[in-house]
Amino acid sequence: MKLLFIGPPGAGKGTQAERVAERLGIPHVSTGAMFREHVSEGTDLGKKVEAIMAAGDYVPDEVTVAMLEERISRPDAKLGFILDGFPRTPGQVESLDGLIGDDGLDKVVVFEVDEDELTERMLSRGRVDDSAETIRNRFTVYAEQTQPLLDVYDSRGVTVSVDGMGEVEEITERVLAVLKSSVHQDVL
Ligand code: ADP
Repeated sequence: MKLLFIGPPGAGKGTQAERVAERLGIPHVSTGAMFREHVSEGTDLGKKVEAIMAAGDYVPDEVTVAMLEERISRPDAKLGFILDGFPRTPGQVESLDGLIGDDGLDKVVVFEVDEDELTERMLSRGRVDDSAETIRNRFTVYAEQTQPLLDVYDSRGVTVSVDGMGEVEEITERVLAVLKSSVHQDVL
């Protein structure tokens, strides 16, 4: 099963992707987490992306796509994965289509959370890219570059919405319920 979790910064999709991936026994593939790991390990890639991330901008597509392609080509991703934070631009959608086909995703789960709640969550998690100024920029970049992707996936008929407000456990159950009712797979 190949899934994409999408939503604005702070929507909790990473937390939910981790939990749902574990329940389904498929890997959670987060480009943001992979980049943060490179930064903390001080790799060449990490050095390249550190300042971009700290400003809340997007890493160039070719860098992101190469990293993602390598990740989903590993054996553990053969039966499926949950993508979190990729694709985020029209160019990345095109690249992903090239890798898994434009009918490759079984579902795109869209997290709906109101903006005040998002800012509050991000300020309380204290990541380096969670300062007030960077958060503002991340919202702008999301609205300009990533929001339009929802129309693309809507027109393919694969999106489902989940209310991202409430307790973590409760939201996980909502995601699993919506997948159960819309995807026909034994693992659910
Ligand atoms: P959030 O969902 O809270 O915005 P992520 O962990 O998904 O956080 O991403 C953190 C940062 O990593 C982004 O602001 C961006 O700089 C970089 N990044 C992650 N995924 C991508 C991507 N697909 N394309 C470009 N940049 C990315």
